[in-house]
Amino acid sequence: MKIGVLALQGAFREHCRMLAHCNVQTCEIRTPAELSNIDGLIIPGGESTTIGKLMTEWDLLPAIKERYQNGMPIYGTCAGMILLCNDIAGSSQPRLGLLDARVRRNGFGRQRESFEAMLDVPEFGPEPLAAVFIRAPYIERCGPGVSVLASVNGKIVIAKQEKILVTAFHPELTNDDRVHRYFLRMAAGDA
Ligand code: GLN
Repeated sequence: MKIGVLALQGAFREHCRMLAHCNVQTCEIRTPAELSNIDGLIIPGGESTTIGKLMTEWDLLPAIKERYQNGMPIYGTCAGMILLCNDIAGSSQPRLGLLDARVRRNGFGRQRESFEAMLDVPEFGPEPLAAVFIRAPYIERCGPGVSVLASVNGKIVIAKQEKILVTAFHPELTNDDRVHRYFLRMAAGDA
């Protein structure tokens, strides 16, 4: 299995490190052609307006959508989650819009620009998941095809819809590989 990590801006190296730790081959993605031989794609955290602008410039938006329609799973963290949602509150920035959800950027407010929370995620087992939030968004509502895997004070921070997984936080900055392993199971057709 080979997983591509969108490498235009943001925390892509940290995802490659986590995938290598999971013994998976990785590939940095910057062009549509590089999408052709991967089994899944990770869109990292960073700045969603910058990543969206670069995706537009590199013609990656239609290419990624087409690969998704043909079965390629996608995992978006933080800015990656924003770019996957079809409704970004108060913004018309470029996006993939594949996830039927309304997302609020910087939704945890200034006083909590960065924080860590222990999440209860039954899908990942009984151990709580340490989650690092950095100017994080949250999902405020989602369509019927979306499953909510975890919330913080009613704010949705992990969601899944068919072959799309999103987290508002950054598991690649921790040593807990359960989110990545879950995505790998999705890519293998087991989750
Ligand atoms: N606040 C950023 C945005 O709106 C996301 C932050 C992150 O990815 N850590 O794009």
